[in-house]
Amino acid sequence: MEQLKNFKDFIKKIENLRQASLILKWDMETCMPKNGAEANIAAITYLSNEAFKLSISDEMKNYLDELSKEQNFSKMDNIFKTMIIKEKKEFDKTKNVPLELATHMTEVCQRSQNTWFSAKPENNFNKMIPYFREIVMLAKEISRYKDPNKSAYDVLIDKFEQDMDTQSVEKLFSELKDGIVPLIEAISEKKQFDDSKFKGTFEKYRQKELSYYFMDVVGYDLNSGVLGEAQHPFAMGNSPFDVRITTNYHLDDVRPALFSILHECGHAIYEQNLSTNLVGTFLNRGTTMGMHESQSRFYENIIGRNKNFWVNHYDKLGQILPYFKSIPRDEFYRGVNKVEPSLVRIQADELTYNLHIIIRFELEKALFDGTLSVKDLPTAWHDKMKSYLGVEPTSHQCGVLQDVHWPSGLFGYFPSYALGNIYSGQFLMQIEKELGNFDELLINQKIPKITSWLTKNIHQYGKMKTPKEIIRDTCNSEIDVKPIIKYYTNKFTELYDL
Ligand SMILES: [Zn+2]
Repeated sequence: MEQLKNFKDFIKKIENLRQASLILKWDMETCMPKNGAEANIAAITYLSNEAFKLSISDEMKNYLDELSKEQNFSKMDNIFKTMIIKEKKEFDKTKNVPLELATHMTEVCQRSQNTWFSAKPENNFNKMIPYFREIVMLAKEISRYKDPNKSAYDVLIDKFEQDMDTQSVEKLFSELKDGIVPLIEAISEKKQFDDSKFKGTFEKYRQKELSYYFMDVVGYDLNSGVLGEAQHPFAMGNSPFDVRITTNYHLDDVRPALFSILHECGHAIYEQNLSTNLVGTFLNRGTTMGMHESQSRFYENIIGRNKNFWVNHYDKLGQILPYFKSIPRDEFYRGVNKVEPSLVRIQADELTYNLHIIIRFELEKALFDGTLSVKDLPTAWHDKMKSYLGVEPTSHQCGVLQDVHWPSGLFGYFPSYALGNIYSGQFLMQIEKELGNFDELLINQKIPKITSWLTKNIHQYGKMKTPKEIIRDTCNSEIDVKPIIKYYTNKFTELYDL
């Protein structure tokens, strides 16, 4: 079919532009000289803009209209059929957004993120106020163009987590909170582990060696990936053949790099295992950020913080960093699972992490429904941290300015993290049903078997299925908070003798 062949060429043009702008973003976060920012931002803006123009062009509309016609549609394979349906839906939403508005948003977000790079170390919230105000205003305006019948925040949530809305998130998060708060309270009455031993001096080259070891253990493919360094660890890719990850080495503590490597590998393994049949379509990436987080947090927590994972790998840690030879494995296990309310999300333990997300969700929601103004954000942040976690930020740096998401315009993204935790609990439960006891799988070094299960049920589909469809087909269930609560309860009851 001539039409389909031309459409495939057209998709390639858009994907090429996206690929180029992604690599420039990688450059910006990993190795760009400070003075290179202006030129780099200009290039990213230009390329993203060109890709966006094509995605809302008449040419795109014609292809989608033509290929939707029954005589053409029936001739396409299932992948293209699914893509046409999804793209048409997306096109109908974005076509109404004026190009100048979208371009302006991209540019503001780039500048805002670049300002945050200095505002955070300077502890200067005022520097971010005009950016946050403008981003919220622009995001509201764009959301109105996309779907005037929905609240702006609903549109934003749906952007990162398809078929999800504020009300559903509220309901799931309230169940999550009800399940974890009693555990956190019970733990606070117990004798706390002393993890002061974990602080020391750990040279970067040794931590790097450790990173490569664990990338190999979990099956990250270095022929289709590379490890870099960035202030805030992330993974990025545009096809299964090039999925890059970064980490951040703390010279006084090995845990942040170690667990961020496992986390980012989870994201990357998801995309490296996409079906290659999806290459050349818009479906060749993880389906939503929530599903992505379910995979990253699966490798980081459910695998990496499991006692039995370390049965086979603790000696290697001692070989690379002899310091750990003096710490018994069990003590190490307790040290990487210590539950203690803290200020910084990315350093939070598995349990309190969820509260960090719930706080951000509630603040974002308030910013968008108008009940909170940007200038009051630090105070609101402070109050919620105190009331939910019992800790008080001593600076903006470890408070409202700690994350890159808001400065780069990613409002509506945060709920994905805790939704990912919820999904990961459901996958764990299903794996145990189908493959047997999870602890034994880890003792017997069956990570490849676990990854194959995840690939068969999740990874290979890319954006072919929504999270709800994946969970329905895989677990025969709706989205359900109970499995992750059960996992937390079992794990921490044993750990803290609750
Ligand atoms: Zn992540």
